[in-house]
Amino acid sequence: LNVVLAGGLLMRSLWGPVEAADLVIEGERVGEQAAGAPSFDASGCVIVPGHVCSHHHLYSALARAMPAPERSPRNFVEVLEMIWWRLDRALDAEAIRLSAELGSLEAALAGTTTIIDHHASPEAMEGSLDLVADALEAAGTRGAVCYEVSDRHGEDRGLAGVEENIRFAAANRRPLVRAMMGAHASFTIGPATLGALVDAARDVRAPIHIHVAEDAVDEEDSLDRYGQRVIHRLEAAGALAEGDLVAHGVCLDATEIGTLHDSGAWLAHNARSNMNNAVGYAPVQDAGDRVALGTDGIDGDMFAELRAAHLRAREVNPEAGGDDALRWLAGGSTFAARLFEEPLLGTLVPGAPADLTVLEYSAPTPFREANVAGHYLFGLGRWAVRDVMVAGRWLVRDRHHVVVDTEELASRCRAAAARLWTKMDEL
Ligand SMILES: [Zn+2]
Repeated sequence: LNVVLAGGLLMRSLWGPVEAADLVIEGERVGEQAAGAPSFDASGCVIVPGHVCSHHHLYSALARAMPAPERSPRNFVEVLEMIWWRLDRALDAEAIRLSAELGSLEAALAGTTTIIDHHASPEAMEGSLDLVADALEAAGTRGAVCYEVSDRHGEDRGLAGVEENIRFAAANRRPLVRAMMGAHASFTIGPATLGALVDAARDVRAPIHIHVAEDAVDEEDSLDRYGQRVIHRLEAAGALAEGDLVAHGVCLDATEIGTLHDSGAWLAHNARSNMNNAVGYAPVQDAGDRVALGTDGIDGDMFAELRAAHLRAREVNPEAGGDDALRWLAGGSTFAARLFEEPLLGTLVPGAPADLTVLEYSAPTPFREANVAGHYLFGLGRWAVRDVMVAGRWLVRDRHHVVVDTEELASRCRAAAARLWTKMDEL
C-alpha cells in the first residue's frame, strides 16, 4: 500500500511535536517520498502511533457479562478459583480461537495495534498458541503469545506448558507474531518447573512473561516455601533478564523494585484489573523507566487504561502528573520495539512499521507537544478512533473493522459463549 495521509495533525511519537504534516506510507512502513501516491483525507484528524497493550488475556473475551458465581469471592485466590481457573478449564479450541479473534478486533477498534497476550487453557493446551496466533493474524493485529506455565494441575502439566511454549516458539513463522515464555505466578510454580521454563526461555530466546506479586499470597508463599520474596526467588532462578515482562507487581517492596530495575525486565501495570480485584496499588511511581500498561484481559482499550492509571496514581499521590501515565503507555511501545526487533516501532518516522491510528479529533483547545497528556487524559478516547493501520494494512476504516466480519464473528461468539458458560457450570 502506498498512500499519503494528508491534511491532519501528526504525532510521530507520543512525546514528539504535534505537527501539521502529511504522513507517507510505503508498503509496510512509513516512507519519505510522496510522489504519485494516492491521498487519504485526514483533515480534522490526529495521526498517532498505534497503542500497545502490554498484558492481555484474550481468552477472557467470552467471559463478558457471564453470570457471577453463587457467592462473591472473598479474596484474590478465590477470584482465581471461582472464576478464571474455571473459565480456562472450560476452554476448547473453538472458544480459544473465537475469543482471541474477538479481543483482537475490539482492540483494533480502540486503536490498539499490538497485543502482548498471556494464554491459559489447561484442558486444550497443545496447539493452543497456534489458535491464538492464527486469530491475531486473521484480524491483522501485531502480537506476542505465550502459554501460562503452572503446576496447579500437577508438575507434569506444568512441564507440558513449557513444551507448548517451546513448540510454538520453534515453529512460528508469522511475520507479525512473536513468542514469549509464559508463566502463571511463583505461587503455582515449583522449583523443577521454574528451572525448566527458564532454561527453555533462554534456549529458544523467548522472553519470560509472568504475574508477580499481584496479591500478598504470592509473596507469602515464596517466603514460606523458599525463604525469599518473589522477585528474589525469580532472580536466583535466572528468571529475570532484559526484555522479560513482569505483570502487576502490586506487593513489591523497595528491594524488589531495585532488583527488578537492575535486571532490565519490564513491569506491566494493570490499574483497572488491580482495582477490580482489590489487590492494592502497584508502586509504579518508583519503578523507573521500564513500565508499560496492560489491561489484564478487561478489554483492549488503552485510552481507558491510561485514564484509570492516571486517576489511580493521583488518588495515591497528588503530585503524580499526567505525563507519568502517558510515559507508561509509551513504555509499551519501547518494550514491543525490542521484542519485535523493530527499534522504530511506536514511532511514525521514516522506516518505522506503519502501525497507526487516525483519531477524528478537532481539538477545541490548543493542542501541542506540551499538553498531549492533557488531551489524552481528558479529551481523547476510543470514541475518536476512525481508522487503524498495522504494518501498512488498513484494519479499521471509518470506524469499521474491514478485515473481520464483525457481525458474523459476534454471532459465532454468542453461541460459543453460551456453551462455554454451561461447561463452566458443570466444572
Ligand atoms: Zn494477567
